[in-house]
Amino acid sequence: MDTLGHYINGERRPDANRPQPVFHPALGRPVRQVAMASRATVESAIAAAAEAFPAWRKTPPLKRARVLFRFKALLEQHADRIVAAIVEEHGKVWEDAHGELARGIEVVEYACGAPELLKGEHSREVGPDIDSWSEFPPLGVVAGITPFNFPAMVPMWMFPMAIACGNTFVLKPSEKDPSAAQILAELLSEAGLPPGVFNVVNGDKEAVDTLLTDPRVQAVSFVGSTPIAETIYATGTAHGKRVQALGGAKNHAVVMPDADLDAAVNALMGAAYGSCGERCMAISVVVAVGDAVADALVTKLAPRVRELNIGNGSTRGLDMGPLVTAAHRDKVVGYIDAGAAEGAELVVDGRGLHVAGSEAGFFVGGTLFDRVTPQMRIYREEIFGPVLVVVRVDSLEDAIALTNAHEFGNGTCLFTRDGAAARYFSDAVQVGMVGINVPLPVPVACQSFGGWKRSLFGDLYAYGPDAIRFYTRRKTLTQRWAVDSVGKAQFAFPSHG
Ligand code: NAD
Repeated sequence: MDTLGHYINGERRPDANRPQPVFHPALGRPVRQVAMASRATVESAIAAAAEAFPAWRKTPPLKRARVLFRFKALLEQHADRIVAAIVEEHGKVWEDAHGELARGIEVVEYACGAPELLKGEHSREVGPDIDSWSEFPPLGVVAGITPFNFPAMVPMWMFPMAIACGNTFVLKPSEKDPSAAQILAELLSEAGLPPGVFNVVNGDKEAVDTLLTDPRVQAVSFVGSTPIAETIYATGTAHGKRVQALGGAKNHAVVMPDADLDAAVNALMGAAYGSCGERCMAISVVVAVGDAVADALVTKLAPRVRELNIGNGSTRGLDMGPLVTAAHRDKVVGYIDAGAAEGAELVVDGRGLHVAGSEAGFFVGGTLFDRVTPQMRIYREEIFGPVLVVVRVDSLEDAIALTNAHEFGNGTCLFTRDGAAARYFSDAVQVGMVGINVPLPVPVACQSFGGWKRSLFGDLYAYGPDAIRFYTRRKTLTQRWAVDSVGKAQFAFPSHG
């Protein structure tokens, strides 16, 4: 079986250190192994990035953007190859993997605006013969640590922006589905990116700890689960690094009595069960305002959940694939057991699903719980599987209070026909990304992505305008060129007036 190594200094770096199996989740068997980088290997990637930095920093933003333009064209040309790698190792269905890639490409397109985005700010004549301006130089070597659930898109939230700003990059992708990142690295080289500007190290905690403690790494972008995000933030900032660490979620969709219920059900099906619920923006809680809404929703959802078309994601036209690993499948099944034991009403039970031809795959069917209470574990914790829970409340105020009391604040949405209710909700809800009749309000590339509360540690969001600020350090200049210089010392604090 092949063992995937790393990509350092513009070429593949074979490695067989502590190999771990990479599974095909629909078949339930390993398809390759991936090496776990030692500290020395990660240090060699950081060294390559540090060496490439001075020349890349001096490369005009327009020329950096031209590399990204070529990269975008190559991504489109090789889309099916990247998608096949995602489907094979992650398990999501073919069309969904194409969607992930498309959203990643949008960030590349935005990063192509580097000359405009990096222009800076200028104030002329702030005092006699004095001009002042801010520049946004790059930081140096920056690192990205990414989760399994978007093996192409989440890395592309980070590195196109970072390298457009003039930084060099070390990516540590998820060890569960590492192949997509290798393809991205090869395509960047093919697009003309100089060796060392983008490097990939595969690995686990040892690799991550090296990135978090090496003084050459200036900033770390992390996306993953909340406990790890919190540790990454604490360790990285303790070592003087700028850190943004995006964590987990429990996204509530509030359905009002005036909502178009059929449209809401369509939206909920995709948002809850798409990608088998393994999305940080997945809707995992429906908050039904009033028993009539709850009854109608459950009646409409239940047959749709039972009819989900589930299988090996390489088959076209499916709704849902398997979960990523056997361990994750068991964890999700454990949550369904817990929900039933805690007294929630199990309307559709996805346990024990049989998928013909994929008997060993890590499948769980769509699952729907009604009459879930805020005390239950299936409400409080992120399940990250195809499990939707319905909580019943009496009013919009109660729905907002419930959402705001949850530890996570990534995404939320409201289904309504009432503009005033929508405005009130979006203002009062303590969540970073809000949708009105939009179930997955994932910001487009010219906005920025991030949650509130324990869904994000740090200040700046991913991609968009925030990424320009995250991957650059402001330098403000104040400059005087007087035609006639006045030779007199000033002891009062300068006011330029
Ligand atoms: P994870 O936290 O297990 O892993 C994320 C990354 O951290 C991986 O690269 C992994 O190798 C590394 N890692 C794992 N354990 C580590 C440790 N002890 N020390 C150092 N590094 C470690 O997350 P996952 O299971 O890959 O992804 C799913 C999670 O990611 C979910 O909680 C989901 O909500 C979250 N997520 C959040 C967003 C967001 O934007 N907020 C987006 C996607 C996924």
